[in-house]
Amino acid sequence: MNNDSTTKILTCIICPNSCRISLTYDPDTQEITSIHGALCKKGKDWVEQELFKPMRTLCSSIRITGGREPLASIRTTKAVSLSSIKELMELIKASSIKAPVEIGQVVLSEPLGLDCDVIITRGVDRL
Ligand code: SF4
Repeated sequence: MNNDSTTKILTCIICPNSCRISLTYDPDTQEITSIHGALCKKGKDWVEQELFKPMRTLCSSIRITGGREPLASIRTTKAVSLSSIKELMELIKASSIKAPVEIGQVVLSEPLGLDCDVIITRGVDRL
């Protein structure tokens, strides 16, 4: 282990076993130097992604004009890079959609060039 190693304990969220995985890694080379506690390889893959390229599905709401509700709930169709969430939220905050909107309707297609869409998860009728 070199002096630049970082130690972490993470709980894997892939399956109900919830393995507590302890590891050391080099933040510069993004290399895991030791890992213990994962019962399967998926745990190591998840840890690598969580440490070096964390992804999240964004759930939020978007402004609706002319609707029975002022907002409609939305989500991304896929998990997106955590580093893109702030910019994506700013885009969503600056956007509005005219009622009616239906579940599954795409409100932003591949926003910011991301490999996903933003869709409605709760419909809003026209006033
Ligand atoms: S390491 Fe494997 S067995 Fe353990 S919680 Fe993750 S997916 Fe499940």
